[in-house]
Amino acid sequence: MEIQGRIVVGESMEVVEGTVMVEDGRIVEVRGEAVETDDVVIPALVNAHTHIGDSVAKETGRGLPLDEVVAPPDSHKHRMLRSTPRDEKRAAMRRTVERMRSEGVGVFGDFREEGVEGTEDLRAVTDDSPVKAVALGSGPPEVLDVADGYGASGARDDGFTEEREEARRRGKPFGIHAGERDADDIDGAFAYDPEFLVHMVHARDEDLDRLAETETPVVACPRCNLVIGVGKPPVEELVEATTVALGTDNVMLNVPSVWRETEFVSKHYDLPDEEVLRMATVNGARALGVEGGVIEEGAPARLVVLRGDRSLADVDDVVAGVVRRAGAGDVKDVILPASQA
Ligand SMILES: [Zn+2]
Repeated sequence: MEIQGRIVVGESMEVVEGTVMVEDGRIVEVRGEAVETDDVVIPALVNAHTHIGDSVAKETGRGLPLDEVVAPPDSHKHRMLRSTPRDEKRAAMRRTVERMRSEGVGVFGDFREEGVEGTEDLRAVTDDSPVKAVALGSGPPEVLDVADGYGASGARDDGFTEEREEARRRGKPFGIHAGERDADDIDGAFAYDPEFLVHMVHARDEDLDRLAETETPVVACPRCNLVIGVGKPPVEELVEATTVALGTDNVMLNVPSVWRETEFVSKHYDLPDEEVLRMATVNGARALGVEGGVIEEGAPARLVVLRGDRSLADVDDVVAGVVRRAGAGDVKDVILPASQA
């Protein structure tokens, strides 16, 4: 397969006119050459933190404090999940995955509630989708039989020592929410030596130092933080300290659009456009322990072709156009490997 256009190449996000050659789901060559089209080719987006299980509860729970809306086991979210039949939850999750795919998401990392059963539901709705789901399960350590890793709700909710150890033993990632409402659960989260942290809205100077020392990636979810009213994460400082990815968090509260997330981040923070695009692609892959997120030889061929004749027409700075203007209506094609490999 050959994909042509203005290609956003490598981690530097350099724009090269030419052709991406794909064989067996891998990029085999990026060839600079004159092409006829003004399409723009970018790595498929990575939504590094979602909870698609609550797709059944869109626009409910608004205005409640954080713990009442999402904390296990008796918050609004968990009551909604318990009271909804499994087939309805699966159907809603399926719609969310398809929405993300159609917008150009190639990989997402989901913190799935409801223990083993919840992770089985996520598997059931993604196994036949080309979108790669990184299932971060919850509940007992045995969830790691079916999950790709463990997604802990937070250090103040419960102890996760056994789950953390089991994830390590199996070579699977352990991620945990931290510093969303306040800084009180950050020390506890670091104590698990997680593969990544989610939120860090309330990261203190010493936390930024620890992130830098331990090179622990952070998934920031600034738009969802806004819905819950916990404040804005210090994204510029986090970017200075470590690898920062983007997530849209609870579908219940926030539409899972990485495009809206990049625009928001680009306009609320002073960051290079290339950095914002890395946050929405390669950094997410890195945080989740997944290969790719970048257009280079040997990488999995997860690509999005954006049409050059709408939002991206008349924009000289292609990457700025991509992170600040592009959206679902610009997506011409989403190219993903057939399997979940
Ligand atoms: Zn979350």
